[in-house]
Amino acid sequence: MQDKDFITVGIEASAHTYAVGIIKGKTILANQRASYTTEVGGIIPMQAALHHEKHADEVIANALKEANISIKDIDLVSYTRGPGMGPCLRVGLATAKKLAEKTKTKQIVGINHCVAHLSVGQLTNNTKDPVILYSSGANTQVIAYEGKRYRIMGETLDMGCGNFLDSFARDLGLGFPGGPKIAELAHKGKKYVELPYSVKGMDVSFSGLFTNLKQKIQKKEFKKEDLAFSTQETAFAMLVEVAERALAHTNKQELFLAGGVCCNDRLQEMCNIMCKERGAVCHIPSRSVLVDNGVMIAWQGYLERKRKTTVPELRPYERTDQVNVDWV
Ligand code: AMP
Ligand code: MG
Repeated sequence: MQDKDFITVGIEASAHTYAVGIIKGKTILANQRASYTTEVGGIIPMQAALHHEKHADEVIANALKEANISIKDIDLVSYTRGPGMGPCLRVGLATAKKLAEKTKTKQIVGINHCVAHLSVGQLTNNTKDPVILYSSGANTQVIAYEGKRYRIMGETLDMGCGNFLDSFARDLGLGFPGGPKIAELAHKGKKYVELPYSVKGMDVSFSGLFTNLKQKIQKKEFKKEDLAFSTQETAFAMLVEVAERALAHTNKQELFLAGGVCCNDRLQEMCNIMCKERGAVCHIPSRSVLVDNGVMIAWQGYLERKRKTTVPELRPYERTDQVNVDWV
């Protein structure tokens, strides 16, 4: 069969979102999801897993409907093998297996979630050899390809930027996910409040900033809006500094954004300005591809379609740079 007719279904369930993407060759046919949210408090892995169990059939059905295909048309099912929360990953694997059993090929392949976030740029933005700023809930990394690996050039030394924003939002009495709520508040903030800025070489750190914000919230001296505004300015400047240094070190000319935090309009603006000043291109995919999604898992599955299918497995702790990039 010609690759352009090859149909891949990608199932993502590593954290808060159960998502299904379908591609035919390099054409996106469907991108469906159901996300676990809360009014107050953060994400509870077992509850997120129950949410995924409840919504899996419906999300798969919606994706098949959007793509206008039947299960028998599917050539490959790919799923997220890690990193992620064990209970959520297990639902992804179980539902992927169940679906693959019904396809004509029964082919199934496990995918690294972070690598999928990076690779999807080839599909959506025609990226060639970018530096990637990947900032999601749990992960914050600056990555570049070199010698069959995606090398982590810099990363957070403690919490992911998204988890940091979510925790800060929780302390302000907002629910999960907190990032968009902080963004909304930040638009109303005017006064810049001095906050700790932690870039250590190529790495960043958010825990000192988080503790400092906790103290400032308790003192009630500052407006929530100003704290949100200043937090964004400080945390995002840290990310952009490290991304810029990675571009300079590697001499690469493209930046690709990945992960839910990169939905933030101020972070996107800062990245655009930095790239423009360097004469680099800033690639930003649509929101539905920045956040956890099934399309990226489908695309990575398509890239790895020749990999010999082994027994389906999970690798909850697999890091980006442990994956052998043998499909390029
Ligand atoms: P992901 O794990 O890639 O789906 O990203 C989820 C994270 O992105 C959560 O921590 C959200 O709070 C964060 N997030 C989503 N939208 C925004 C936004 N507009 N600004 C900042 N963070 C965001
Ligand atoms: Mg993610």
